[in-house]
Amino acid sequence: MSIDHALFHHSAFWVIPLLSIGVIAALRWNRQRLRVEIRKNAGALRKPPRQEESLMNAVAAAEVMAGQPQPDDFTVTHDQPLEEALHIREQQYQLLIENLHAGVVIHAPDTRITLANHQAAELLGLSMEQLLGKTAVDPIWTFFREDETPMPLDEYPVNRVLATRQPVRNLTLGIKRPGAGDWVWILINAFLEQDVEGNLRQIVVTFIDTTEQRKIQAQLRESEAHYRLLFEAANDGIVFHTIEPDLSLGRFISVNPVICRLLGYTGDEMLHMTPLDIQEEDELARVPKEAQNLFDQGSLLFEKTLTGKDGRRVPVEIHARTFVSGGQALALSIIRDVTERKRAEIALRASETRFRQLFASMTTGFALHEIIVNAQGQPEDYRFLEVNPAFEQVTGLNIATLIGKTVRQALPTIEPDWIEIYGQVALTGEPAHFEHYTEVLDKIFEVIAYCPQIGQFACLFSDITERKRLEVALREMTLTDDLTGLANRRHFMACLDEELARLQRHATQRASVLMLDLDHFKAINDRFGHATGDAVLRHCALLMQDSLRKIDHAGRLGGEEFAILLSGADLVAAQSFAERLRQKFANTPIMQEGPLILVTVSIGVSALKAQDLSGDSALERADAALYQAKAEGRNRVVIATE
Ligand code: GH3
Ligand code: MG
Ligand code: MG
Repeated sequence: MSIDHALFHHSAFWVIPLLSIGVIAALRWNRQRLRVEIRKNAGALRKPPRQEESLMNAVAAAEVMAGQPQPDDFTVTHDQPLEEALHIREQQYQLLIENLHAGVVIHAPDTRITLANHQAAELLGLSMEQLLGKTAVDPIWTFFREDETPMPLDEYPVNRVLATRQPVRNLTLGIKRPGAGDWVWILINAFLEQDVEGNLRQIVVTFIDTTEQRKIQAQLRESEAHYRLLFEAANDGIVFHTIEPDLSLGRFISVNPVICRLLGYTGDEMLHMTPLDIQEEDELARVPKEAQNLFDQGSLLFEKTLTGKDGRRVPVEIHARTFVSGGQALALSIIRDVTERKRAEIALRASETRFRQLFASMTTGFALHEIIVNAQGQPEDYRFLEVNPAFEQVTGLNIATLIGKTVRQALPTIEPDWIEIYGQVALTGEPAHFEHYTEVLDKIFEVIAYCPQIGQFACLFSDITERKRLEVALREMTLTDDLTGLANRRHFMACLDEELARLQRHATQRASVLMLDLDHFKAINDRFGHATGDAVLRHCALLMQDSLRKIDHAGRLGGEEFAILLSGADLVAAQSFAERLRQKFANTPIMQEGPLILVTVSIGVSALKAQDLSGDSALERADAALYQAKAEGRNRVVIATE
């Protein structure tokens, strides 16, 4: 059996021809019975059979065709007088013929119609008057063959019976009805009757309307064609197999090309197999249970792995259902190849596992949130959907109490700015990257916020408090002098250059620089020790800082040399500042146990000039003035003359 034909094995198509065969057999049997009975009666009457026999034959044929029960009581008893009996019988048959579903027409040997019932007239589309007296070949009607081509005259049933002397059985023909102009299709039987000498007496034609049946057949054929197309063209495998009375799975009776390709069998090979032949060995034990479930529930969706001809393993999803056809329990299974889906699922699970591991073990805190907006669509809160363990460590917030809560519930003091910033990320999809100091936790976080899908935002938190502290310390280390906390030489020189640049931009701007050197400092070290020397240096730095405005800068250039930058001060102002500072040094002893220490300072002052190439120039001029101050006896201020 080929795959093509397999589907139609259980088709309703077979019903019609089988029915026809049944009708013919029944017709034969009944006609024989009737003939016997009529002959018997005719013998008793000692008269040749006439019209009434034809009527009986017609009734018998028509009854069988119409599927009506055979009347048993239309026999004549021997006690009745002959004429009366004949009359009664004729009346009985007339009545019967009129009440048949089938059409009955009796033709004379010249084919003229001598008798017809109403059903015949109606089916042929003529009135009884129009019908009687017409010949079989009257042009008022045209017959058509089953294929809808016009039927030649010699094929007309009456003509055929006349030509062959054989009955015509179950001939389908179409008639275009003269009155209504519509089509009817009839299933027709015709036979001739001869008298005892073998002379043709009449031709009896019976027929039933098969128009509706034909229409249904056409629809069936069409729907069969549709299902066949579906079967052949489906993307899924489709199989039909029998289910045995003990619920074991029987033979495949129909398989489509997809399942054959999937398992590597030909259609014919599969039709010699059972569903057990395509199951994995170790899954066979499960089959009875599955079959029982399928039978109990009528339909079942399940997954399993099938084995192909070459041993290939094919994961499939099966949607099976049971039904009964012709008394046989069958199962229809739609089988989907899920190899790709399985592969993708495995890959997804692997990547999910990797992601979970990363998620759980990474030191960066991760939190996923959904934004909550007000009626105007503005963000007003957000909810924690997922956080990782690092998030708990980084933020100190408890995961268990956080999930599902909104930030306003979890942290009522949250600044609205944060909701605004995160809201933008979640609603626009634009990521944000920033550092954030949280006062409650006294921590600085580096935050990367991005939008995995609109309405949500994910944050990666790194605690950078320690890094920030180190950075600040490092920056200060590079800018300040360890001992005194004043700017170191490099930082001071940078400030000086910045001030010079400002001066060069603004013609009216003024600035002066002071160089300071402690007098006889070596002697202090020598007398009180290095540590005391350091204390003296710190004391001097404080004296300087106390005298400065915010915009001024003081630096330790090295040893016991200092410098001061006075922003906005011309030489006159700088000189008076220097003089006040000198006096302050001279009048402020160092606080320490033991003998009183006073230290004086010599100061050189110079102005920054717009034409200077760098701050160094002004410093050199101040240094020259300082040299002069030392030379002139120390503890004095000298203004650079250049
Ligand atoms: P003058 O009046 O000519 O400036 O005499 P002076 O002794 O101050 O000058 P000198 O340059 O001879 O001496 C500077 C001394 O400063 C020498 C050095 O030991 C001391 N010194 C330099 N840096 C430090 C320091 O960081 N701590 C201490 N305690 N002493 C320092
Ligand atoms: Mg010195
Ligand atoms: Mg000195």
